Amino acid sequence: MLSIPFNIAAPVGQERRYVEDLLSATGDIGEPRYSALCEQWLEKCLGAPRVLLTPSGTAALEMTALLLDLRPGDEVIMPSFTFVSTANAFALRGVTPVFVDIRPDTLNIDDARVAAAVTDRTRAIVAVHYGGDACAMAALRALAQRHRLDVIEDAAHALLSEFRGRALGTIGRFGCLSFHSTKNVTCGEGGALIINDERDLARVEIIREKGTDRARFLRGDVQKYSWMDLGSSYCLSEIAAAYLYAQLQEAHAVTERRRAICAAYRASFASLVADGHVQIPPQILQQRENGHIFYLLTEDAATRENLLAHLKAHGVSASFHYVPLHSSPAGQRFGRVSGQMTVTDRVSQCILRLPVFATMTDLQVNHVCAAVRSFYLHPSPGTVS
Ligand SMILES: *Cc1c(COP(=O)(O)O)cnc(C)c1O
Repeated sequence: MLSIPFNIAAPVGQERRYVEDLLSATGDIGEPRYSALCEQWLEKCLGAPRVLLTPSGTAALEMTALLLDLRPGDEVIMPSFTFVSTANAFALRGVTPVFVDIRPDTLNIDDARVAAAVTDRTRAIVAVHYGGDACAMAALRALAQRHRLDVIEDAAHALLSEFRGRALGTIGRFGCLSFHSTKNVTCGEGGALIINDERDLARVEIIREKGTDRARFLRGDVQKYSWMDLGSSYCLSEIAAAYLYAQLQEAHAVTERRRAICAAYRASFASLVADGHVQIPPQILQQRENGHIFYLLTEDAATRENLLAHLKAHGVSASFHYVPLHSSPAGQRFGRVSGQMTVTDRVSQCILRLPVFATMTDLQVNHVCAAVRSFYLHPSPGTVS
């Protein structure tokens, strides 16, 4: 029987060659050669004034909290249905994450519920583009403007997703990317901070270089460098960058393959959707998605458990996430809830993610499709659905 993993993060191009090149070069391994190539690639491809590689998406989010001078008592509005780092990056600075429910269609923060969460301590909104699907950015930006808030895009899922021709991550003041091994493009651990506002350019260099003006020193702008501001060690290792550059060069091909896999799932499950068995990711007008996640929302929690077991019995590794942050121990300690969490609670219990990875074969995709369909078309005796 076929055994299909949930994800495979493997080399897709010149990874070995670039890392080998670095090892055999006579130059300094601290000199940002591949890092610079990655940053230029991202700036050009996304159309952003400046992109800085970081050790992780988490680090990029932490940098936004420093750049905005967030302080204890400040509040940042975000969805509860997201990865821990979206909230932890701000809680680290003593900021209170304020959780808002998600929309039932895109599973993104419910823009209609954000206004009710704003107080005189609110400083920013984090727009998490779940599965690479765009948040309602026009509505969020209008609201932010009205209340003088900043918008940070957690675009960890969203590399190469576009909405109305604009790359996700380039619409808010900052965008945060992740190159973790669970993401479309990866170097194991890595990330990037997208700077969309020129006024942040000078300070972000200092924050990334341990609070020093070393970047200016290296350019010959100053004679020596010193401690200027708060900061931390937020550079990506050059070895990781060499690997990442090879992945970026294949990023469009990888994204195309992922889109094709998701399109095959969508076609195969159309009748299950029509019959009301499952909900699948939306098709958003004027959006070009990146095939990061393909999910099924089952009608209830018991059905999800049965479907997971059925798929496992057919050799298919499916997965689910997130424990909603508002019901996690640290979320309750550091955060606050605004309004109902009905959709968040339901989705976290009913979501099931199917395998999507660039090297997945058509045979494997068809096997997953058949395994899902057989659950609904010929339910095995003994399941409680
Ligand atoms: C992966 C992820 C992050 C964190 O990225 P790392 O690179 O793993 O630190 C942040 N937010 C979301 C929504 C993510 O999926």
